[in-house]
Amino acid sequence: MNWLTNFVLPKIRAVVAKKEVPDNLWHKCPGCGQMLFHRELEANLHVCAACGHHLRLAPDRRLAMLFDDSKYTLIELPKTLADPLKFRDRKRYAERLKEAQGTKGATRDAALVAHGTVGGAPTVICAFDFGFMGGSMGIAVGEALLAAARLAVLQEAALIVIPSSGGARMQEGILSLMQMPRTTLAVEMVKESGRPYVVLLADPTTGGVSASFAMLGDVTLAEPGAVIGFAGARVIEETIREKLPDGFQRSEYLLEHGMVDIVVHRRDLKATLDRILGLLFRKGPPAIAAPAAGRGWDRA
Ligand SMILES: [Zn+2]
Repeated sequence: MNWLTNFVLPKIRAVVAKKEVPDNLWHKCPGCGQMLFHRELEANLHVCAACGHHLRLAPDRRLAMLFDDSKYTLIELPKTLADPLKFRDRKRYAERLKEAQGTKGATRDAALVAHGTVGGAPTVICAFDFGFMGGSMGIAVGEALLAAARLAVLQEAALIVIPSSGGARMQEGILSLMQMPRTTLAVEMVKESGRPYVVLLADPTTGGVSASFAMLGDVTLAEPGAVIGFAGARVIEETIREKLPDGFQRSEYLLEHGMVDIVVHRRDLKATLDRILGLLFRKGPPAIAAPAAGRGWDRA
């Protein structure tokens, strides 16, 4: 029996058993429906090779993409009051939070903050994680933005914020709405210190996030095709009973209407940000000494 169970059976099983294919090997492009191989997608910065659709990007991937030599230091964010309202819908909010955090620790929420250099300029980046409860802004995200702004002021660095969010986190009720003025004050602090505040609008930037810090950038960039708006298009259509124009609430539409400065393809983002920060941080030419009296052009 030993020979049968130990040798023959595993061999048969190996032949018959279905090969396990990890389900994250292929991704379907939300733009054109094409199946995209994950390695190619990764190499292409998560942009569909067939139609150019910009898929959502994890925040750590973004940080690695934008900081010089992919080098950055994540800062630890303060632990905040979790589930202050003891909120419960079909599931308890505390449970939802735990699920989203997974193994990433109890302070992990929908925004990451890191510092390093971009184009040689000291920079703090706050990147949103849409995968974490839709990138929604609750107390923890407000706190992250505040920490990022404080760090930028302290390090005399630029602040880049990359929202990708459905808006305020409804499970925290009024407390999440209070993050709108808080984050607005946070970015004002950076501006008052004379450092640039740059926003990169990623898909989607909506609700309370678009109604606060996301629209206050000194320079506002957007990724192609990103949804940017306050209320959803369907809600607006139903309210005003009018058909909305094509491309409404997309980056290109906002660019045309003066709400966005530039729409940048993801492959050009790093170079564009390098250039912008390089220009903003450029030291002026050395002061030219005033000519001594009587030795100016008038004697010639
Ligand atoms: Zn596509």
